[in-house]
Amino acid sequence: MIRLPAFTYVSPKTIERAVRAVADAGPDAMLVAGGTDLYPNMKRGQFEPKTLVGLRAIRELRGVAGSARAGLTIGSCTTLTAVATHPEVARAYAGVATAAGLVSSPQLRNMGTLGGNVCVDTRCNYYNQSYEWRKAVGFCMKKDGDICLVAPGSDRCWAVSSSDTAPALWSLGARITLAGPAGERTVPIAALYHDDGIQYLSKRPDEIVTTIVLPPADGWRSAYLKLRRRGSFDFPVLGVAAAVRLEGEVVREARIVLGAVASVPREATRAAGVLVGQRLTTETIEAAADAAAGPARPLDNTDLTHPYRKKVTRIYVARALARLAGLDAGMPEASA
Ligand SMILES: Cc1cc2nc3c(=O)[nH]c(=O)nc-3n(C[C@H](O)[C@H](O)[C@H](O)COP(=O)(O)OP(=O)(O)OC[C@H]3O[C@@H](n4cnc5c(N)ncnc54)[C@H](O)[C@@H]3O)c2cc1C
Ligand code: SF4
Repeated sequence: MIRLPAFTYVSPKTIERAVRAVADAGPDAMLVAGGTDLYPNMKRGQFEPKTLVGLRAIRELRGVAGSARAGLTIGSCTTLTAVATHPEVARAYAGVATAAGLVSSPQLRNMGTLGGNVCVDTRCNYYNQSYEWRKAVGFCMKKDGDICLVAPGSDRCWAVSSSDTAPALWSLGARITLAGPAGERTVPIAALYHDDGIQYLSKRPDEIVTTIVLPPADGWRSAYLKLRRRGSFDFPVLGVAAAVRLEGEVVREARIVLGAVASVPREATRAAGVLVGQRLTTETIEAAADAAAGPARPLDNTDLTHPYRKKVTRIYVARALARLAGLDAGMPEASA
């Protein structure tokens, strides 16, 4: 059994106190919500915080408020189970409910939170290993080393964004509220991410994600499909979030966002553009799926081969769009 290293745990009861606690503890502090990603990373020596600021005692960070008509505000410490099973989320923001319900296993969804999920660490075969394993291969620049073992000539880390909910939230135009020493600000979820496997979040380390805000559902339909080896609990090796706003049968707006293909969720804007002004037919879906495979440039640093993952991107995008069009009857389930 790998043990957790020693650390100081503080458990503020308000957002204001949590912001102060992080600022007081300085660069050696980290935030923890459900701990389902952070604690395993601490055990493997990937994170070495001296102080953890726990968010679970802050009541105002939990729960779902609002309506599909006005928009929903989800507290960052709302568990993934609560998000996946919330009737309004499931009905009007199906892609988000599906993505939350496909994270890991029931136990981890009961502890893991939506805020933790959008901030979850990037992943790589050379990084998500024990300290001894990483030491044996000479470490890499994401932790303790100075080169990238996947792309040795590269001056950056290519670890993969592996959040299930981030692409789904992005496809529906979600915004993120952050609280920090300088006050509160709300940004589109796209602005939360930075294309680098190490500095993958653009928020400051002392900023807390307080809410995730979904705009009015307003004619949007959404779906999320996930590729992974073991359907019981694996991280995504591909996530496809698709959302369209229909007027009658015509697509007025569309967003397709790919997860686990880069260090950030990757929006397939050209593919979405193919759909606008069109009906969702087999032909338009095929054309959009062809265009969507372009932005997916997976490297050989997660499960399954990267040429296979690129090929499957096209197929999963087509299936997600077919689901939105109600054309998926008889298709194989694409969330294995
Ligand atoms: C076996 C296993 C399988 C998993 N499978 C999946 C999977 O299929 N899909 C998937 O997406 N994830 C998966 N995970 C990762 C993890 O369980 C989820 O991402 C979960 O949602 C993380 O939420 P948490 O509340 O536990 O985050 P924590 O572990 O508490 O924190 C994760 C990160 O987010 C930061 N953080 C947490 N809350 C906030 C906040 N409010 N503001 C700012 N920063 C914050 C923490 O500092 C930390 O860096 C898996 C984990 C394990 C161990
Ligand atoms: S992509 Fe390179 S630097 Fe990043 S975790 Fe993997 S091996 Fe390390």
